[in-house]
Amino acid sequence: NPCISRICVIGAGYVGGPTAAVLALHNPSVRVEVLDKDQGRITRWNSGHLPIHEPGLNDIVRLTRDGALTNDPAAGSNLISRRDPNLFFTSDTAGSIGAADMILLAVNTPTKKSGVGAGRATNMTALDGAVKDVALYAKAGAVIVEKSTVPCGTAQRIRQTLGSLRPGVSFEILSNPEFLSEGTAIKDLLNPDRVIIGSAESSSGQVAADLLANLYTAWIPRNQILQINAWSSELSKLVANAMLAQRISSINSISAICEATGANVNEVAKSIGLDARIGPQFLKAGIGFGGSCFRKDIASLTYLAESLGLDEVAEYWSQVNSLNVSQRRRFARRILRRYNENLAGKKIAMLGFAFKKNTGDARESPAVDVIKNLLDEQPAEIAIFDPYCNEEDILREISNCGPADDASTPSRVKIYSDPYQACADANAVLVINDCDQFRNTMREPRMDSAIAAASKLDRTFSDECISELGALSLISERGSQSLQGIDYVAGLRVELKPIPVCPKDCPDCKSR
Ligand code: NAD
Repeated sequence: NPCISRICVIGAGYVGGPTAAVLALHNPSVRVEVLDKDQGRITRWNSGHLPIHEPGLNDIVRLTRDGALTNDPAAGSNLISRRDPNLFFTSDTAGSIGAADMILLAVNTPTKKSGVGAGRATNMTALDGAVKDVALYAKAGAVIVEKSTVPCGTAQRIRQTLGSLRPGVSFEILSNPEFLSEGTAIKDLLNPDRVIIGSAESSSGQVAADLLANLYTAWIPRNQILQINAWSSELSKLVANAMLAQRISSINSISAICEATGANVNEVAKSIGLDARIGPQFLKAGIGFGGSCFRKDIASLTYLAESLGLDEVAEYWSQVNSLNVSQRRRFARRILRRYNENLAGKKIAMLGFAFKKNTGDARESPAVDVIKNLLDEQPAEIAIFDPYCNEEDILREISNCGPADDASTPSRVKIYSDPYQACADANAVLVINDCDQFRNTMREPRMDSAIAAASKLDRTFSDECISELGALSLISERGSQSLQGIDYVAGLRVELKPIPVCPKDCPDCKSR
């Protein structure tokens, strides 16, 4: 890029890290620095063990940060590619911001926990802090880009802050919301459906937007880059997440009707998804959406509507979050009903903790609400296995939301690094996400007999009959995705100790 030679990305998180890596990959002549106040996170980005798990991220970082991609980095052999490093991770605030032609703000914007708008409004502390650093150190004329998801009007707020802290110096503020999904961040960044750039409608605003667009055209066709005004851009991000979450809550609301009738939610989802106007995406019934974005972005949209006096609009969108919470509660109640609301002495295993597969992000996992409900019934143990989440993060999420005053919580919740150990002697196994590891195990030849047994269990026996079998009850409301999970879980049981599979015409089953 002829005009931008140094970029500073503030915030080395799930968005800042992968975005910077892909920008650096496709703009080898631009020096991209990722700045974070969290020195521990920067150290990990500079190490062989990146702080976040995203398929494809390691290779891009090795190429752009280390300048070489090898088959075996430990041995330094089998070199595949070499280039000059142009991706750097740093905690040097003044140096990194001061040298940048363009500064991307990718800091966290969670929901406020207290004060005006608590539970709905956006906590702007991190963003305001970053903007203050920009005001202190940025060179005149640097282009400031909002990558974080922010309330509408934030570009204006940043402009005012910079105007008062750096009077007489002009900065252009762009909105460039990120639409990547965790678990597929690199794929999404490499092949986005679209890139949105919002700017002031002045000629200098257009010039700044073009500078950013030029960085993207290194790998994205120009006609996929939409240049609009900053308000529309900020609002588009909130609306995109609200619409996606709304589809999940809609199909989950239908799953409740299906369970109370003879309908099958997967059949309903398939039937409606074949309608080209509706489409099949985001129509999988499950235990509800999680992760750090959907709930908070809907809360932010709700707060915006409320502040504009649009109460019906606020009420409409807040229902998407309410339904989501009630779906998790319904799932937990179903488990409790199976045990007559008494989990004393029971071990409940959970496969998966992250809100979706292929991420280690434990934030706002739907499992937390389920665990909270189960812990109230004092089970002997909740055994959790997730291939990517680390133990600290899981326990922090549970203690953030769980019954904090219950001193026995830590001893009741155990994190396992082996799924078989987690499920050993469990009374129930809950499949929380659609992690590939659960499915791939199914493909192993040694699982064949397990699958056969599982499908028999699944189709032949009523819930009661399964629990009567003793060691394991299989509970899931996750539709076709989790049917595979159920097979796997049953497979686990066969792996752990052969089960006496109830014969098809078992007199006990027939008499029920
Ligand atoms: P994150 O919490 O993983 O990372 C944010 C980082 O910013 C942290 O490492 C924090 O230490 C750092 N930080 C905060 N204030 C700082 C400051 N003043 N100076 C330097 N570093 C600072 O957050 P995330 O998940 O990457 O999300 C970032 C933004 O992107 C949020 O607004 C989020 O809504 C949005 N977003 C997230 C996703 C996602 O899937 N996670 C997707 C799209 C958009």
